Amino acid sequence: MTPSVSTMTRLAQKSVKRGMNLKIFKPERCLACGANDVFAHQPDLNRPLAIKWLCARYEPVPPPGAVCYHAAPTPADAGADQ
Ligand SMILES: [Zn+2]
Repeated sequence: MTPSVSTMTRLAQKSVKRGMNLKIFKPERCLACGANDVFAHQPDLNRPLAIKWLCARYEPVPPPGAVCYHAAPTPADAGADQ
């Protein structure tokens, strides 16, 4: 039996959370625009850890179970924002 896409997506998102808890990876800024609020976009559900970080602008319909993460600001931000 082949799991449905939404089941696969949910499992894939779960593995993101697990990886995050284990500190295997951390949220990065949006690939497209550099925003800090990002979703873990998984283009290939068979490789759930091959993540592309995209903000809501580029991932307008987050997959089921997706969580919006906040990328840590870089030292460059501190200078730019203030
Ligand atoms: Zn973006």
